[in-house]
Amino acid sequence: MTSEFDYIRENLKQIQERVAKAAQRSGRTPEDINIITVTKTVGIDRIKTVVDEGFYHLGENRVQELCEKYDNLSKECKWHLIGHLQTNKVKYIADKVSMIHSVDRLELASEIQKRSAQIGKTMDILVQVNVSGEESKFGIAPENAMKFIKELSLLKNIKVRGLMTIAPYVENPEDIRGVFKGLRKIFIDIQKENIDNIDMTFLSMGMSNDFEVAIEEGANLVRIGTSIFGKRQY
Ligand SMILES: *Cc1c(COP(=O)(O)O)cnc(C)c1O
Repeated sequence: MTSEFDYIRENLKQIQERVAKAAQRSGRTPEDINIITVTKTVGIDRIKTVVDEGFYHLGENRVQELCEKYDNLSKECKWHLIGHLQTNKVKYIADKVSMIHSVDRLELASEIQKRSAQIGKTMDILVQVNVSGEESKFGIAPENAMKFIKELSLLKNIKVRGLMTIAPYVENPEDIRGVFKGLRKIFIDIQKENIDNIDMTFLSMGMSNDFEVAIEEGANLVRIGTSIFGKRQY
């Protein structure tokens, strides 16, 4: 039996194979790498296809879109807010997301702390680092990451679980290997500090165009949209 969404299942299979090979090249196993399916602009029917295949980790970059989809999908889904987050929107998602990947300023962290405390939750977050230094990118500057994380360690309803970066788009992902290496180095430096309440477990880097290079450089959370669903329609 064929269906109109077979292409999604086929893409998932291919992604899993490529992830597995990249994991092996970096001395790890496929199970070490977590795939977040990036569902922004993608409709519920197509998202259900990936959820039915066992891909429960879904990434959205807009609060309103996440909230609209949230009620229409299985409660087993784990939502990741992966894009820039405005402080005044934290209240809409605090009870819905299992991880926020884009924490890059204390004002935002304080609001997450406040809203999480109100609902008795400890929010898993990643600190977004602007490794490439592109002006158009959000994220804290690499040289400020350690100090920022020490400040976050004091917030009881926030649990830092690792780091995230978005690399510049390039034709050849080899050209941005250095960005991934850079985030890995910051990750290890912070790990070595053994800061209270700081857990450096997740390295969220790699998208459709560059996830294999990112995995080779240590990524264990990859955020993939286009390679699964096809080009986004805006
Ligand atoms: C859209 C998006 C992705 C996925 O990008 P693709 O190139 O479609 O795989 C990953 N991370 C973030 C932060 C995004 O906004």
